Amino acid sequence: MISLSLQTSARVVLVDITALVEKALVTSGLDEGAALVFCPHTTAGVTINENADPTVRRDIAMALERLVPVDLPFAHLEGNSDAHVKASIVGSSVTVPVEGGRLALGTWQGIYFAEFDGPRRRRLLVQPLAGSRP
Ligand code: ZN
Repeated sequence: MISLSLQTSARVVLVDITALVEKALVTSGLDEGAALVFCPHTTAGVTINENADPTVRRDIAMALERLVPVDLPFAHLEGNSDAHVKASIVGSSVTVPVEGGRLALGTWQGIYFAEFDGPRRRRLLVQPLAGSRP
């Protein structure tokens, strides 16, 4: 397993981690299989979406803000319940097929670390999963 670290820059932000994951994959030497990308935090997640137009990322963050506003009557005393809920909506991991040592993402796909309670230093785990060529 490969442990990576990243610094997020805002309370809510989607950070493109595609190159980071790709680099970890190259280091691992995995040729065929999949890469499990896991976020070990309760107020952040990992998702795959469009990598061409950066406004899509901002729209996702905006829509999640509207869906789960900070000022709902939450019971959790830490004051970051919205972040916990958003993290659960997005999910904590993605699994991407690996072919020829590269992530088999679609042309317009990128992998994003979804921060909902930043800015913070965060960890990200990448587990290469070996597979056989079909
Ligand atoms: Zn909390």
